[in-house]
Amino acid sequence: MKLNSHKNDKVEVQFKESLDFAAAFYDVKGYSPPKLVLLEDRETFNIAKGYETQDWMVGWYAARFVFMLSPDKFDTESSHPNSDEEIKRLLTHEAAHFFFNAFTGGDKPVWLNEGLSVYGKILPKNM
Ligand SMILES: [Zn+2]
Repeated sequence: MKLNSHKNDKVEVQFKESLDFAAAFYDVKGYSPPKLVLLEDRETFNIAKGYETQDWMVGWYAARFVFMLSPDKFDTESSHPNSDEEIKRLLTHEAAHFFFNAFTGGDKPVWLNEGLSVYGKILPKNM
């Protein structure tokens, strides 16, 4: 299992911006941010997730952690587009899941959780 031990400052900065954007979207004034964990390859990603994931999947939120495949592995370990815009959208989507969980204590109903998170990741185009 390989976690990314070196800090990826660019992704960390984007994560903070995405959290702040989602906080504004949900009208949250103060919050304790979740941690971002970068996973170095698909094998590690699958071990952390607990099952064999499809190649489009590059991140998820659980228990105050956002897990994400290292963006520099998107091209070789996933079919997910690799661009600053796509990473921003992904992190904002996962940030929306974090706040949904904070409000509801869970991830249900799934349609509302995913709906708000998809809606939230569309908005940053105009950030
Ligand atoms: Zn989602």
